[in-house]
Amino acid sequence: MKVSLLDLKRQYQGIREEVLKEIEKVCDNQSFILGENVANLEKEIAQYCHTKYAIGVASGTDAILLALMAIGVGPGDKVITTPYTFFATAGSIARLNAIPVFVDIEPETYNMDVDKLEACLKKETRSKKSKIKAIIPVHLFGQCADMEPIIQLAKKYRLTVIEDAAQTIGAEYKGRRAGSIGDFGCFSFYPSKNLGGFGDGGMVVTNNERLAEKVRILRVHGSKPKYYHKMVGINSRLDEIQAAVLRIKLRHLENWTNGRIEKARIYNRLFDEAGLQEIMTLPTASADRHVFNQYVIRVKKRDQLREYLAKEGIGTEIYYPVPLHMQKCFRYLRYKRGDFPVSEKAARETLALPIYPELTIEEQQYVVNKIGDFYKL
Ligand SMILES: *Cc1c(COP(=O)(O)O)cnc(C)c1O
Repeated sequence: MKVSLLDLKRQYQGIREEVLKEIEKVCDNQSFILGENVANLEKEIAQYCHTKYAIGVASGTDAILLALMAIGVGPGDKVITTPYTFFATAGSIARLNAIPVFVDIEPETYNMDVDKLEACLKKETRSKKSKIKAIIPVHLFGQCADMEPIIQLAKKYRLTVIEDAAQTIGAEYKGRRAGSIGDFGCFSFYPSKNLGGFGDGGMVVTNNERLAEKVRILRVHGSKPKYYHKMVGINSRLDEIQAAVLRIKLRHLENWTNGRIEKARIYNRLFDEAGLQEIMTLPTASADRHVFNQYVIRVKKRDQLREYLAKEGIGTEIYYPVPLHMQKCFRYLRYKRGDFPVSEKAARETLALPIYPELTIEEQQYVVNKIGDFYKL
């Protein structure tokens, strides 16, 4: 049997007609950038995420970059995030010549460890001239970071909170939707995300009118009105074809998300029935609603397991093999091995298994059986 890590063709089968019809309309209109579909998608995403404003941009990376630009983060400023995330989180900080300051993660959720955040803030703010401007908690794999204490600390130290919610659209934390809790929420519509376009795309959400307006201007080179520039922005517009596709997919998102949650439950049950709970750590869902963009287990002999599963036709992935403080491009930050032991351990032990709403029970059973076979060898 072959079980790929992600099979978007199955999802496409169910929406093909609708999608092609809408794409054809965009082609007939020949209006491709920031048109009617983008405006409507912004309204629908704001409503879905329980925020007042949503601004469509070119990618999840740009969403983070634009949020940082909107609060004026620049050379020498510091922004706190975790080293166990996709590169874009810290990359966006570095692109503004600001300094990523890393705080380690919790071993169970892979999200920012709040005690370590507090310790970091104490240390960084010892001098009166603290350069810390913002915190970017990452909602990794589909569940929210522990936002309540993060918001409290941000208030105490007067910092902006930018949620990296790229993997977490529709997740909930104490009754609130991901992206609506901090000052900004940043989403990605990269095809493998829970709401994925037919290319790149992203969205910034916020409840702050002034910040929303600033992001709106910054995404079109800082111009308002057109050709009059009060600030230097970037070109980061969402296009109509993406927005048309995303609007159709958004209508299915709740169903698909519930499907993912159900598949995660089934994995948990099958691993339990196979008696495999003892040799692996299953994902913990501590937040109200984990949307399982990834189903990530923690195992011994991870690399050998991955190779074995590949031979048996099962696709897996390692998110992420190198924590960001160990990346070559961040050598100048002068972090060393051992600085973030929880992230480093996770990088050695985690493995993402296939999860998507269309995955069948037979396929899940096959994955679980093969993992069992490997550890019996
Ligand atoms: C996907 C992702 C991003 C970046 O989104 P793009 O749309 O690929 O630019 C940022 N942060 C995290 C945690 C992501 O998973």
